[in-house]
Amino acid sequence: MELTAWQVAQQQFDEAAEEMGLDQSMREVLRVPQRELIVNFPVRMDNGTVRVFTGYRVQHNITRGPAKGGLRYHPAVNLDEVRALSMWMSWKTALMGIPFGGAKGGVVVDPGELTQNELEHLTRRYATEISVFVGPHSDIPAPDVGTNAQTMAWFMDTLSMHHGYSMPAVITGKPVQVGGSLGRLEATGRGVATVTAKALARMGVEPSDATVAVQGFGNVGSISAMLLHRKGCRIVGLSDVKGAIWNADGIDIDDLMKHFSSQGTVAGYAGAQAITNRELLTGDCLVLVPAALENQLTADVANDVRARLVVEAANGPTTPEADEILRGKGCVLVPDILANAGGVVVSYFEWVQDLQAFFWEETDINARLELLMTRAFDTVEGLSTERKTTLRRAAYSIAVNKVAEATLVRGIYP
Ligand code: NAD
Repeated sequence: MELTAWQVAQQQFDEAAEEMGLDQSMREVLRVPQRELIVNFPVRMDNGTVRVFTGYRVQHNITRGPAKGGLRYHPAVNLDEVRALSMWMSWKTALMGIPFGGAKGGVVVDPGELTQNELEHLTRRYATEISVFVGPHSDIPAPDVGTNAQTMAWFMDTLSMHHGYSMPAVITGKPVQVGGSLGRLEATGRGVATVTAKALARMGVEPSDATVAVQGFGNVGSISAMLLHRKGCRIVGLSDVKGAIWNADGIDIDDLMKHFSSQGTVAGYAGAQAITNRELLTGDCLVLVPAALENQLTADVANDVRARLVVEAANGPTTPEADEILRGKGCVLVPDILANAGGVVVSYFEWVQDLQAFFWEETDINARLELLMTRAFDTVEGLSTERKTTLRRAAYSIAVNKVAEATLVRGIYP
């Protein structure tokens, strides 16, 4: 039976805690979320009817600083998924050494079915409902699947209206006109490209010798593909929810972007052949970048994966069983909490800029991002070599230790 994302997150934590010999009571503290909020709220649709939506905000851990994590709009959002995503955020912020805890939020909705007007009303009401959690020093959301800079602007405006003054630091991933950071839009994909290049170098492969398939062509997938293409990699496969495409000679990303801009999907692109989602994941390439959703690389798929390097741009794309299979095949896997951390790193830069009302140059932001990603990769890689363990276990060990140490030193209240 397929595990839920929450079962996967807890299993990954349990295995890491076991390997680290983490104290039993600390395991109990860290394996559950600290706070969970469920909201059911009405939204008036354009045709005058009222629909009730369900949303969540979960704070897994706020020991190291304010809660941080994205907002997802997707029909499959549920409490367990949000819990898993919030736990992964705690490990990610700790691994990257940025002073945040972990959180996640979401609304059960297909944003593609709503008009802009309806989406704005939904966002403003959801922001109001979860405002008991959210604030520049308590909980700072960001974009995730199905949300974007415009969603963040509505969210920021709503909280600002409640307080009577502009509150840019309440959310990150905003448009630059209202306190967003240069480089935030590309940050997650930029980080993915950086760690992919590092992992290729470790394998002794030149970027020009690397063939890459990317699943998902949203914010993270499209930027990852574009930047890997610029680094000289050959992008052979791409996909989104509407279909997958393959061209063993390489897809010209700039040309594909013209098709994507007019059609809103990679499917149907004349410069490649149509394939299935499974064929994309198991195609003949060196690097596989899952950049869509959880649970894509299951045991069944992993058995047929041909890539030698998997870079988890999405959160939780690989089940623990698939992880084992890939490991057994000698496939290197860069885990999500490291691979896609570029987004939260630049969100941190955005928050710092907003609090100081002092904005940085894009070159400085990209250079600092590169530094943090490179340092984190080297630390994780070093520990995995030293302990003869996987990059995931090494990353978890570093991250969980940091949260555990912070918990110990703060002590248990009261
Ligand atoms: P997005 O909404 O911009 O894009 C999601 C993409 O996945 C779309 O192209 C969609 O068509 C595609 N997709 C959905 N279901 C699919 C399927 N079954 N097969 C193939 N493609 C499918 O979302 P995003 O922000 O790019 O997020 C993607 C992943 O990256 C998520 O796991 C998210 O949690 C993670 N992530 C995002 C950020 C960020 O800054 N946006 C940061 C860290 C991690």
